[in-house]
Amino acid sequence: MNISHIEHIGIAVNSLEEAIPYYEEMLGLKCYAVEEVADQKVKTAFFQVGDTKIELLESTSPDGPIGKFLEKKGQGVHHIAFAVDSVNDSLNELGEKGVQLIDKTARKGAEGLNIGFLHPKATMGVLTEICGKE
Ligand code: ZN
Repeated sequence: MNISHIEHIGIAVNSLEEAIPYYEEMLGLKCYAVEEVADQKVKTAFFQVGDTKIELLESTSPDGPIGKFLEKKGQGVHHIAFAVDSVNDSLNELGEKGVQLIDKTARKGAEGLNIGFLHPKATMGVLTEICGKE
């Protein structure tokens, strides 16, 4: 497994409509894409910051993962995503090392990338995603 950089940081927000102007007008970043991931019950907005993206996550349903997170913890950093070549190879390797996984195999995330989540119990409380083209 070879992590090249932090691909993105996922931030849960109550409303993209409220959050996007802060990132654009206050921080001077540009939202280059808004995408709904129906599977995850979220709407996402992306900002490029060097090699890394900020991924804002608005819930589209209270019973989705972001809906539950907002209800329990409120707005804030939700997960960190590392870029790897192959998500399936990395998940296999981590599983063999005994890391507790949420996803045993890759699934499709935003921007057509493969993604997989590690369990926060295994990562000292940080919900960790790995993502890549493979
Ligand atoms: Zn993510």
